[in-house]
Amino acid sequence: MSVRCTPVFAPDAIEALAAAVRAAKQGNPLAPVTVIVPTNAVGVTARRRLGADGGVAAIELVTPGRLAERIAGADLAAAGRRPVSTPLIDITVREVLRHAPGHYESVADHPSTVTSLRDLHRELRLAGPLGAAALRGASARGREAARVSSMVSERLAPRWFDEADLIAAAIERIRAGERPFERAVVFLPRVDRGLPADLLRAIGDVTDLQVLVEWTGIESVDAETVDFATALGASVDPVAGAIPIVPADTRVVSTTDADEEVRHAVRQLVDAARSGTPFARMALVWPTDRPYARLVEHHLGVAGLPWNGRPGTLVTERLVPRFLLDLLDLDRRGLRRSELFDLLADVPINGPDGARVSVAAWERRARAAGVSTDAHWSPRLAAHAAAMRATERERHADDAEALSAFVDDLRRDLGPRSRTRTWSDWAEWCERQVLYRLGRSVLDQLDEAERLASDHANRVLDRLRYLDTVGKPVTRSEFRAAFAAEFEAAPGRLGRLGDGITIGSLAGTVGLGADLTIVLGAADGLLPPPPPSDPLVSDADRRAAGLGSADARANRIHRSFLSHATTSATLVVHTPRGDLRATTDRLPSRWIAEHLPSVSPHSVPSHHAGLVACEFPGSAPEHRLRARAVAAASGVDALVAGCADDPAAIRGLRLRASRRSDRVTEFDGDLSAVTIDHFPRPVSASQIELWPSCPHAYFMRYLLGVRPIDDPTDELGLSPMERGNVIHDTLDVFHRRVIAGDIPQPGPDGWSPEATAALEQIFTETADRFEQTGRTGRAANWFLQRPSVRAELFNWFVRDGRLAGSRGARVVHSELRFGRAPDVEVSLPLGDGRQLAVFGAADRIDRTATGELVIVDHKTGKADKFKKIDRTDPTEGRTKFQLPIYAAAALATIGEAPGSTPVRAEYGFFDRGNYERYGYSFDDEVWNQVTDDLRWLVDGIGSGLFPAITEPPKFTFYVDCHYCDPDGLGVDERYADWSRKQDDPRLVAVFADDGADEQGAER
Ligand code: SF4
Repeated sequence: MSVRCTPVFAPDAIEALAAAVRAAKQGNPLAPVTVIVPTNAVGVTARRRLGADGGVAAIELVTPGRLAERIAGADLAAAGRRPVSTPLIDITVREVLRHAPGHYESVADHPSTVTSLRDLHRELRLAGPLGAAALRGASARGREAARVSSMVSERLAPRWFDEADLIAAAIERIRAGERPFERAVVFLPRVDRGLPADLLRAIGDVTDLQVLVEWTGIESVDAETVDFATALGASVDPVAGAIPIVPADTRVVSTTDADEEVRHAVRQLVDAARSGTPFARMALVWPTDRPYARLVEHHLGVAGLPWNGRPGTLVTERLVPRFLLDLLDLDRRGLRRSELFDLLADVPINGPDGARVSVAAWERRARAAGVSTDAHWSPRLAAHAAAMRATERERHADDAEALSAFVDDLRRDLGPRSRTRTWSDWAEWCERQVLYRLGRSVLDQLDEAERLASDHANRVLDRLRYLDTVGKPVTRSEFRAAFAAEFEAAPGRLGRLGDGITIGSLAGTVGLGADLTIVLGAADGLLPPPPPSDPLVSDADRRAAGLGSADARANRIHRSFLSHATTSATLVVHTPRGDLRATTDRLPSRWIAEHLPSVSPHSVPSHHAGLVACEFPGSAPEHRLRARAVAAASGVDALVAGCADDPAAIRGLRLRASRRSDRVTEFDGDLSAVTIDHFPRPVSASQIELWPSCPHAYFMRYLLGVRPIDDPTDELGLSPMERGNVIHDTLDVFHRRVIAGDIPQPGPDGWSPEATAALEQIFTETADRFEQTGRTGRAANWFLQRPSVRAELFNWFVRDGRLAGSRGARVVHSELRFGRAPDVEVSLPLGDGRQLAVFGAADRIDRTATGELVIVDHKTGKADKFKKIDRTDPTEGRTKFQLPIYAAAALATIGEAPGSTPVRAEYGFFDRGNYERYGYSFDDEVWNQVTDDLRWLVDGIGSGLFPAITEPPKFTFYVDCHYCDPDGLGVDERYADWSRKQDDPRLVAVFADDGADEQGAER
């Protein structure tokens, strides 16, 4: 009995197999022959090719693992041993690290230490005892890794078995005299040494065994094959020459990037199908899963082409596994707002009442309440709900309370992270959560891929349940790690070989004669792929132990590339010129020059060029796109005519053309053709002031109701707005108590010591309240900012007391609300019979010793834009209307008309405005000017023109205004649009007028 190794080039492999099978049958066509194949896929392909070449009877194709199981599986089962699972190895590795961490002590708790040791243990087991011994002697690192592996084996051996145990038991049985079959042929085995090679050698000891090994004629690649043959106790007589490259039809296609490669490949697959090639005779392969696996799945899906192979979407990305993995890990860093809402936005989840949660409304409440981290939820949502109820915003209050109840319910279910449960308890917990939080109706509507993933998750949970017999109770994160590990080990194939195009990685496929093979990613750095690095042992250690080295992986892919290249009737090799994700250029793979030197690459300059030049687009969207690209070449009118049946495209074309024009249009702010009731209810000063400052922002905010959302997580410290609110709220409470007589009014010497003490106490209470409701940013920053806010308040207070004393003023109103029921109605005349109803709240109103009303609007920001305001320009270029509106409100409140009572209005600045006051007293002349300015403003808004008067782009660390820059990528295009349109005569007519024009020019 003997082992004979016969080297074959890939194109001759099937013929060689047929000859070997015939030889094994020794003239008896019905004599059974076992063919040992490396994978089921190779087995199925080989069977079909043998069938197509005339047929062969009584052959059985089997993988080495399945063969070993057939020979020895029953023995191991009879000994009470069961198949080991990935989580079980992980648990055992963890236990070994806990009791004897050795060199791994400092990283023993890290999950990747466990997974790396698990993967190495598996390889080492298949390398056999000699491999483990060699690793032990190779280096200190090797010794440690081998020690952990052997301790894991010792712990598992009494009750569990792995593939290595099966192969070893099978070898033992064969050596004891068992002949698993009469005749066998080994077809294109993986050239790994260790136990799989030992099994073949043992078989060769009891039966004649012919091994057909793949030969390339490339010395560095074939060296492994020679070593493998030696391990079998055989030798190889090299085939003369190199593998015969280049099938009749070979093309090299250079495309812009990976996306375009796949689009182009899909067009070629469609072309081949139109020429009569069955999908089952096509293959699409790539060197690295990233980015190709996902791109291929997507583009084949868009084109509606059938396929089988490994999908780009991982099982763990499907709904049920994804939900469980995210939920189990949700509070890894405490229950953070962003992480909870990531989950809620990603997965359709039900609340405790069984209804789908209102994600958008809840997120707004959480942000408004200042929720950011774990400790914020209950107190801040409760405070926010109370504040909303106090201001009669019942829906917001209800949402805040519902969110709080949801979080409490979730916390109860999650429990503390340190809590341990048995494996079966966690499995049941997961099943309950899927039903309770996703709901039966969602589960019933899963499509096939999602349903398969859900079934797979249930099977994983079932397997984990059985770990109770070996593992002690675990925490949620330990259970999650085991759950995730089971998915890593899960086979991810979809579809049956032969049903549709075969897709997959070069490392997992062997070319056996497709009619069309397309190889993607033939670029330097992808083909061959970069060597993987082993964090535990060096490449030299791995070679010593007979483990696959970095070279071995490259060699396997090289063999696969050559077998595809030499067995397909048509070969197309794609090479991307760049990587748009990494914004780098790519060079063609060196294997193109080495193996296909005579093929000139065909360059596809761009997606557009490829689409226009192709014979038949790959998908329905491409058909539409190409029709429009062709039409566009004949001019815009032809393009519009070509889109006649597509209203969305027509609108898109009109939008693009309009925005590129030098006129303001309906697509960039001209709403003059639309009837809008601009002032159906009272308006605030800040609303009307926004239009001259920026008509586009006015449009977005007040006509569309779009507002940027604050993210409390972004606030490292007290925001300028909240700083102002602390001061405003403190002064409001203080002034109300002064008006009520609880605190003395300012005297000739200013505010009294009693008033100062009262302000101190009110500030403390207000600051505490802001802190408790999450409005003061991170604690460390607030600790430093609080004294500075207090100092600013008291600096102002001293100056205010002096001024009030000099005026003999008494505070008569604080936060005087007006304009909305039940408060007094306030309107300002426009001089042509129209009135503008306004609303708002004036910070403070004093009555001086002379009877004059002094209205003060507190400002904690800079004073730069207010310095020029005076009675000659009371609205400062028609941009500031707060003071006249407040003055009118003060008069309306006391029931007097403008002109009857002396009124002064002023802005009172704090620290950033140097504690200055800017304002003026009103007389008829001032009121007339205000009326003119207000009429201009109201007419301007009524014109329906809302262009974006964008500032020139500049570098900033923050987004200045989200309305023109919602994605934070800059305003270059918006500025270019404005530069083109600003001379539109209609805009000039409205905006090119003294003050407003200056505003525009300044901007
Ligand atoms: S960025 Fe745009 S929306 Fe914002 S103020 Fe400037 S022009 Fe107006």
